[in-house]
This record gives sequence, structure tokens and C-alpha cells, in this order.
Amino acid sequence: MNAVFPGSFDPITSGHMDVLTRAAKIFDHVTLTVMHNARKQGRHLFTLEERMDILREATTHLPNVRVDTFGGLLVDYMARQEPGSVILRGLRAVSDYEYELQIAHLNRQIGDAETVFIMAATRWSFVSSSMVREIASYGGDVSEMVPRASAAALRRKHADVYAEREAEKEEQKQAQQQEQPGR
Ligand code: ADP
Repeated sequence: MNAVFPGSFDPITSGHMDVLTRAAKIFDHVTLTVMHNARKQGRHLFTLEERMDILREATTHLPNVRVDTFGGLLVDYMARQEPGSVILRGLRAVSDYEYELQIAHLNRQIGDAETVFIMAATRWSFVSSSMVREIASYGGDVSEMVPRASAAALRRKHADVYAEREAEKEEQKQAQQQEQPGR
């Protein structure tokens, strides 16, 4: 049985990875599908190609996971999958539920597509791609919240900010050492 995990993955987080890893144990195959919309192009931090590269790098250890992309209605994509394929979505908290419930009902109504939900571990319940992007844009440390491939890509994207922040930290360290010699 195949599960399709659709999303923007801008970039993939440890929450997504947790849902994906659990699903890879349950389903024969999981397809990570970056959904793209020509009208929303430019609204993402990473290009479609960059997001797909990150996904491939982050999932090399999961042999039954493949990466794909689709621009259009998810139900049209599902109709092309092997029979019995389901949509996989992750749930963080009750706040996700209302939106996800609506989409799941609509996908069943318009395309007879079934949705399966997996809850990530609670330690990831506060992690979202948008928060990760925000923290990284100021040079903050996101290494605990994303797989290594995403962290490296964020550092490359914000190389100037990270370099500036590290230089500031180094200056502070040296100033402290001068104030307290011998420590
Ligand atoms: P979308 O743009 O479609 O919301 P996302 O890439 O943000 O796509 O998320 C894809 C799926 O992963 C959604 O079902 C979302 O609720 C879920 N998800 C996102 N972050 C987490 C997390 N930290 N834990 C569990 N599920 C998550």
C-alpha cells in the first residue's frame, strides 16, 4: 500500500521526518510530494528544485520513500497512483485538526481520496517550517528542529546572517576574556 505525503516542505522539519519515518514502517511505499502552484511561486524560501534536493538528501536512509512533485489538484495526482493509495497528513495539535478535517472531507468528496493522519511525537508539536524559516533568517540555531540537509540549506541561504552572528559571538567571547583574564 502506498501513502502520499503532500506538502510545501519549505523546508522539511523534524516533525515532518517523524511522521514520515512512522509512515515508512506502516506502508509499503511513501511518496513525499512537493505540491507547487505557479501562482504561489516566489512565496517560498526555497525553490522547488532546492526543496526536492533537501528531501532526497534527508531521506536517503529510508529505502521505501521516494520524492516527487505535482502542480495541480491533489485528487488528480491521487488518481494516477496505484489503487488503494492514501493521502498522509501529520497532526501537531488540535489547531491543525479543523483545517485538516475540512481538506480531508473535500478530497473524499471531489476525488474519493482517503486521508490517514499520523501524530508526530509531542517534542515536535511546536515545530513548523514557517517558525524554522523565521529563526534561521536571524541566524538562529535550528539544528534540533530540522534534519541536517535542511539545516545546511538554511545556512547556505542565510550565509551572511550566520557569518555576522558568529562574528558577533566571537567578539563577545573575546571581550569577556579581556574583562576576566585567566578564565
Ligand atoms: P502544507 O503547506 O500543505 O501545510 P507543510 O509542508 O507545512 O504543508 O506540512 C505538510 C503536513 O505535515 C501537514 O499535514 C502538516 O500538518 C504536517 N506537519 C507540519 N509540521 C508538523 C509537525 N511538526 N509535526 C507533525 N506534523 C506536521
